Amino acid sequence: MAQKNQVFDNVLDLVGNTPLIKLNTITAPFKGEFYAKVEAFNPGHSSKDRVALYIIEQAERQGILKPGDTIIETTSGNTGFSIAMVSIIKGYDCILAVSSKSSPDKIDMLKTMGAKIYVCPANVSADDPRSYYEVAKRLHEETKGSVYINQYFNQLNIDAHYNSTGPEIWEQTEGEITHLIACSGTGGTISGTAKYLKEQNPNVKVIGVDAFGSVIKKYHETREFDEKEIYPYRIEGLGKNLIPTATDFDVIDSFVKVTDEESAHTAREIAKTEGLFVGYTSGAAMQAVKQLEEAGEFDKNSKVVVLFPDHGSRYMSKIYSDKWMTDQGFFDSKNKVAAESIQYIK
Ligand code: PMP
Repeated sequence: MAQKNQVFDNVLDLVGNTPLIKLNTITAPFKGEFYAKVEAFNPGHSSKDRVALYIIEQAERQGILKPGDTIIETTSGNTGFSIAMVSIIKGYDCILAVSSKSSPDKIDMLKTMGAKIYVCPANVSADDPRSYYEVAKRLHEETKGSVYINQYFNQLNIDAHYNSTGPEIWEQTEGEITHLIACSGTGGTISGTAKYLKEQNPNVKVIGVDAFGSVIKKYHETREFDEKEIYPYRIEGLGKNLIPTATDFDVIDSFVKVTDEESAHTAREIAKTEGLFVGYTSGAAMQAVKQLEEAGEFDKNSKVVVLFPDHGSRYMSKIYSDKWMTDQGFFDSKNKVAAESIQYIK
């Protein structure tokens, strides 16, 4: 890792070591101090850079990956972008099976990064041959010299965050963190970070963020996989229709569910109040913080870290489009259309 005067050998040297940024306005009425771990500062603009780099380098060390091999993965977009970025630098081919729920911007970005892409229907069960899990498995079997990252069922996904995100947050808060609030998709981020933090201080409270329409929260509470919980929702990258082994449910204290609508509005509010342009799940995580504050979770001594997984630029045709928001009915109730801030000079 050659770094002198901010000159780097390649883009991968910039993965990790993201800033912790104090939230000053959106949380002003709340008890305690609130900090955002802003993962958009990774070179691929999301927390998935850590996972992609860590898993690929582990596979290289074990001799599983050789030059010219192919890396295959299922991804809602961010992991794909990170794997494609690492593949370019390290000389691998990259095949990605993505969900049809992913925004067109994300798919275009993956194409630009040289990946071969298969778009799979979002609303089929995980064991359907058309699901992105099954498509990735099939491609792995059919492609000689291929490695399937399988982030939902790969312990290294947890280890990546145990070895980077966790220690960074511990150091940045000088060991004073009281709460970690993080979204759970594969569960790698929350599980690895929580494991490290709880090893330093078992009293750190870890709260996961889940979507309505996902099985994760109920599974945490009952250890029962309840198919009846499953229905389509809009937030990408959060919640699941299966139980990933990359989620360590024992290091998570509780889960909070958030709605698509409130999460979208809260993401927009983060931009307007803190000047931080972050993604949909960052809005979800912040929405969870609001609900926890209302439920009396925090006091004046709380030092809360909320993890913002990615950058807002990936959602221009979704939550940052007034048209999309209107089409979803998200401006119908208490919220009015934000377009009034634009004036057209004729
Ligand atoms: N937010 C976004 C935008 C994501 O893409 C993901 C990953 N699916 C997450 C949050 C959740 O992170 P993890 O998979 O580590 O639980």
